[in-house]
Amino acid sequence: MLEDRFGRRFYYLRLSVTDICNFRCSYCLPEGYSATDEAPHLTSEEAARVIRAFAALGTEKVRLTGGEPSLRADLPEIIAGAKSTPGIRRVAVTSNGYKLPKVIDSWQDAGLDQLNISIDSLQRDEFARITGHDCLPRVLAGVDRALVLGIATKINAVLLCDGAERRLRDFLCWLRDKPVTLRFIELMRTGDNRAFFASNHLSGAAIEGRLIADGWHLLPRARDAGPAREYGHPDYRGRIGLITPYSKDFCQSCNRLRVSAQGRLHLCLFAEQGLDLREEIRRGDIAQLAEKIRALVLGKASSHYLQQERVGATRNLAMLGG
Ligand code: SAM
Ligand code: SF4
Repeated sequence: MLEDRFGRRFYYLRLSVTDICNFRCSYCLPEGYSATDEAPHLTSEEAARVIRAFAALGTEKVRLTGGEPSLRADLPEIIAGAKSTPGIRRVAVTSNGYKLPKVIDSWQDAGLDQLNISIDSLQRDEFARITGHDCLPRVLAGVDRALVLGIATKINAVLLCDGAERRLRDFLCWLRDKPVTLRFIELMRTGDNRAFFASNHLSGAAIEGRLIADGWHLLPRARDAGPAREYGHPDYRGRIGLITPYSKDFCQSCNRLRVSAQGRLHLCLFAEQGLDLREEIRRGDIAQLAEKIRALVLGKASSHYLQQERVGATRNLAMLGG
């Protein structure tokens, strides 16, 4: 099993399949995409090799992310490659949902188990302001289609100060009848968003306190689960999760590693650099690739230094997938 010096085990791989994105989310790529790594993207065969190496080390879950993964026409092939890898039990995709109604059937046919869609607001004009695209109805139609297909669906919403109370009310109303898990993510500071972070960051603690007071109860966490604390309520078909990277001890339960679309291993979302695996990936010797990953993981630090405003090489989360 892949384990670091602090006894943390890594059941969960987040593999970015592209750093390109068509959205301009205000906290991520407000000026739109521009390249931060000129190396070529992994091919679908190379992505499959990375997944095989991680699976050989005990990884059970793969999330395909980006940038925007749906911009890759061969995403169904990559999903299928992950799904057919011995040892991989769950394959997930994180997407902005722009193409969802068109592509979700093909993702399911390829073997998708879980879908995460980012929706920061349920109000069409606000959604358009945040993302730069007036396409909320299409994204919601895609979510409904995923639910019809029986795909476990989570919604990611970044917590932003302005209008937070109103957005929470909108989401709570929606969750009464919508069997999805909504996860509020605390805004993280990156290399590019210093000023935006300073004026928009909101702690999840107040929302969590309010949910508990309103009768929401904490649900148990699976070993390949992401970092959210998830709550359920008997009056709601949906659930709510909180992802609070600024909370004390957040890193103690870290179970995930990241590989960029260019084949660099990131031991933390906020690591100082990506560690190049491209040569081993290209050669295709899975045992050798796995050995390199195992050795590099011993260098994983105990924690990020976000509280001290150190964000490593991460200019924005589109580079790596969040
Ligand atoms: N483009 C896809 C999407 O938006 O779902 C996948 C990549 S995106 C980087 C993954 C997640 O990271 C999204 O839910 C997004 O809202 C979140 N995210 C991006 N920048 C963030 C930041 N600075 N702080 C917290 N979450 C962020
Ligand atoms: Fe693109 Fe996702 Fe970043 Fe928004 S959060 S700009 S959709 S990568």
